[in-house]
Amino acid sequence: LDRATATFSLTPLMAGFFKKLFNQITNQAEVDWDELEANLIAADLGAKLSTGIVDELYDLGREISAKDVVDVTRKRLSGILPEDSPAPAPRANGKPTVILVVGVNGTGKTTSSAKLGMWLKNRGHSVTLAAADTFRAAAVEQLQRWGDRLGIPVVTGKPNSDPSSVCFKAHEQAIANQTEFLICDTAGRIHTRHNLMEELGKIRRTIAKQDDSAPHLTLLVVDASTGSNALNQAKEFHKASPLDGLIITKLDGSGKGGIAFTIYDQLKITPHFIGTGEEPAEFSIFEKERFVSEVL
Ligand code: GDP
Repeated sequence: LDRATATFSLTPLMAGFFKKLFNQITNQAEVDWDELEANLIAADLGAKLSTGIVDELYDLGREISAKDVVDVTRKRLSGILPEDSPAPAPRANGKPTVILVVGVNGTGKTTSSAKLGMWLKNRGHSVTLAAADTFRAAAVEQLQRWGDRLGIPVVTGKPNSDPSSVCFKAHEQAIANQTEFLICDTAGRIHTRHNLMEELGKIRRTIAKQDDSAPHLTLLVVDASTGSNALNQAKEFHKASPLDGLIITKLDGSGKGGIAFTIYDQLKITPHFIGTGEEPAEFSIFEKERFVSEVL
């Protein structure tokens, strides 16, 4: 990972997954189409996308090389995603752009909220963080520590207090201080999914009380290393609370970038940011062409 310049570079592990796939092609006398398809699916590209790639290669009607696989995969993957989403922008009326960060526990939600805060701060914006994951006491402390380290104010509530009230208080402060961005780290207890969705609805309504256009951006955090679970989480959250985009984390580990394409292909939710490590700088805005090149 290129820490010095704070740009992302997916570790050889992930890129290596695809390389291995392509090398297999070159080293085989005859292409095992089923194996190729299974490997694409294993890279989290999903059955539909993988079959499409294999069919197109098959239809070339000649011996295929690793380059053919890369070219066809690149074309297909680039074709799936729309243009890159613009970076979140401050608003002109003195009220903050409110970003809700949602997702199930363990995906990297709290870390990503802090990283996003720093990403915006590094671009000259003022930011407030709201620690609305009040059910996980450690999450509040964790966000507070991040805030101290990054020099970003964190609004907290009492343990077990209503997450909506924390968001309301943070929104009030952000408006009073003319802060450009408010990032709300919400709760993600997986065992009470219904309550979680209800709670997100309540947070949205509470935020809208002080600004009926808010929240402006709802980002779902998914852990790329969880494959189809990430897709299922996206489906479930999207049903309950409209999602504007994704933060895809853990692309530095066993996470395979294919999930970015599968989720867009099935749900039309665009990747906005990616996490490539535990450090604050290991976070970038999602750029399609660059991502495709890194993956391949
Ligand atoms: P939350 O429960 O969703 O709020 O998750 P946390 O933010 O506490 O993150 C869970 C774990 O994942 C922590 O150990 C983080 O350091 C780690 N983590 C978060 N994002 C990334 C990432 O992009 N890469 C890696 N390797 N670890 C990450």
